[in-house]
Amino acid sequence: MTTLKPLLAKNRSWALQRRERNPDYFEKYLHQQKPHSLWIGCSDSRVPAEVLTGSHPGELFVHRNIANMVVDGDDNLMSVLQYAIIYLGVKRIVLCGHYGCGGVQAAIDLPQSPLAHEDSALARRIAALRQALGDGLSDEPQTAAERLNRLVEVNVLAQFACLAAAAPVRDAWRAGQTLDLFGCVYDLQSGHLKELIQQSAEESSP
Ligand SMILES: [Zn+2]
Repeated sequence: MTTLKPLLAKNRSWALQRRERNPDYFEKYLHQQKPHSLWIGCSDSRVPAEVLTGSHPGELFVHRNIANMVVDGDDNLMSVLQYAIIYLGVKRIVLCGHYGCGGVQAAIDLPQSPLAHEDSALARRIAALRQALGDGLSDEPQTAAERLNRLVEVNVLAQFACLAAAAPVRDAWRAGQTLDLFGCVYDLQSGHLKELIQQSAEESSP
């Protein structure tokens, strides 16, 4: 049996340190949140949005799923997107993939995987991800690691296109709302975030 004790202990220690450094740390956003960015990233435990961007509570509105997917029919993602843009008024959306992504690897391996014969939420998701990778899958294979990392970038670009086409995003742009989209990839090895693509209006920026 596991216990919550280690997490509770770290939590108390963290809260204490924060309050010691800044007595108003928790009071600041007690009654409202005003995050500057929406973060859409992978659920991977090695890619924690707040940690790798040095963000504090109140700064990021976060949605994470396997392989940072943006799917039009996904009410979970779409409601987060709508809420962040309309009610929170975020000015920036960061869509972040990462090298070594297990979700993208699973999509590459899908034909040889038991998932190919399953009807489950995970199997459907990985099948949709494989579809999003499209022609990228048939490119000349480099080493397995290079291929994975290239397809991670292909996935960020594919999901970014879905994000830029999403109704809440287009509505915001048409209404003249400032909203900048950034597609990034995170390097597990260096801890660095790299920008791949940016868009600030309905047409692609030059
Ligand atoms: Zn991942």
